[in-house]
Amino acid sequence: MSTTYDLITVGGGLGGAALAKAMAERGARVLVIERERRFGDRVRGEALAPWGVAEARTLGLEPLLRATCGHELRWIDLAFAGTQVSHRELAATTPQATGWMSFFHPAMQETVLEAAIKAGAEIRRDARVRAIEPGRTPAATVEHEGRTTTERARVVVGADGRASAVRKWGGFTVRRDPPRILFSGVLLDRHQAPDETSHIFFHPLIGRISLLFPQGGGRVRAYVGYHKDAAPPDAGRDVQCFIAESVRAGVDPNWYAEAIPAGPLAIFEGADHWVEHPYRAGVVLIGDAAATSDPTWGQGMSLTLRDVRVLRDALCGNDDWDRAAHAYAAAHDEHYGVIHRVDGWYSDFFMQIGDEADARRMRALPFIAEDASRIPDTPFIGPDFPAGDDVRARFFGE
Ligand SMILES: Cc1cc2nc3c(=O)[nH]c(=O)nc-3n(C[C@H](O)[C@H](O)[C@H](O)COP(=O)(O)OP(=O)(O)OC[C@H]3O[C@@H](n4cnc5c(N)ncnc54)[C@H](O)[C@@H]3O)c2cc1C
Repeated sequence: MSTTYDLITVGGGLGGAALAKAMAERGARVLVIERERRFGDRVRGEALAPWGVAEARTLGLEPLLRATCGHELRWIDLAFAGTQVSHRELAATTPQATGWMSFFHPAMQETVLEAAIKAGAEIRRDARVRAIEPGRTPAATVEHEGRTTTERARVVVGADGRASAVRKWGGFTVRRDPPRILFSGVLLDRHQAPDETSHIFFHPLIGRISLLFPQGGGRVRAYVGYHKDAAPPDAGRDVQCFIAESVRAGVDPNWYAEAIPAGPLAIFEGADHWVEHPYRAGVVLIGDAAATSDPTWGQGMSLTLRDVRVLRDALCGNDDWDRAAHAYAAAHDEHYGVIHRVDGWYSDFFMQIGDEADARRMRALPFIAEDASRIPDTPFIGPDFPAGDDVRARFFGE
């Protein structure tokens, strides 16, 4: 059956828009269906790790982001139970030779979607996919401007985020980790945190973490993570409670003295949920739809861009898109598997509360104090570097 499109993406967030750009500029006919007329603050990722910046580079997005909304955080400061333990220049110590890139998520989304349009993709906004029919020429039922149409393509890509309906329509089975961390965030103006540095405050003794990602000009995306048994009832509802908990995690209260919210406060269940082998019968999943990683460790956007690059290369390298999409899905399981494993170690080490967790930290921390490289660098440098049992044993001082 002939199709109007090679590829339809359900969702035009980071994953859908980046894939649309990448495929349209290689000559594919791409349709993007995006629900939002304008993007708003949904409290999402606003710090791209160094390995994600490198992925953005390979997709031609890094210069665009830097020129529009990106702000480089060359440094990372780590504090443990209120004491600063390291001040690291990421741009000088990562293989990718860059720090984190921070941005306002909706501004990043508009930039990437605009780039997809320039590359030749067709975008329908304020439009909704209502159903998917998997198969040799999969179809999407689309509502737009009061009309319902059926659009067919060689592949349909579910890029519809952490609450993906494409997972269900495509017949995928979703796996979940047990609940462990609750993660909240809010955008603040007039914040006093140093502007070129990302800040992570671990406080495992009380099951807290706070992360600050400045965006320039006193604007900061602030997050607080809680062990699920240690979150106060107002954690995701009240900004003053959020600030108090960030200070408890170790942030200097003076940084918050004049801070005012610039967007909503929201709280999320942190546990990973994912699909194994995210391709079947003409339907591919990418980004959060394929694997929603625990936001505490800031890997979601980097994983999304890795999915986009790997899928683009597979589809552009093989006329048989069924085979190509299977190859993508196998590669996805590999790179997400590494990140998932190491994120789990971080959660065990930094967020677990109780006697056993305290004993593990007591054993490991003296070694880490002597050699901070015992903490695996995976969340900064990505899944291509060793992260086997020996790395875990070194981290845990075993
Ligand atoms: C609190 C929090 C903090 C985070 N912090 C970080 C961080 O610091 N660093 C990091 O790398 N990652 C972080 N993440 C993760 C990051 O936000 C996600 O991994 C990333 O946004 C995933 O992009 P996506 O394109 O897959 O999904 P989304 O960004 O969710 O995009 C999905 C799009 O699909 C559209 N859509 C959905 N259903 C339909 C439909 N039926 N029809 C049409 N359109 C539809 C939506 O409107 C949306 O635009 C964080 C996440 C959270 C929740």
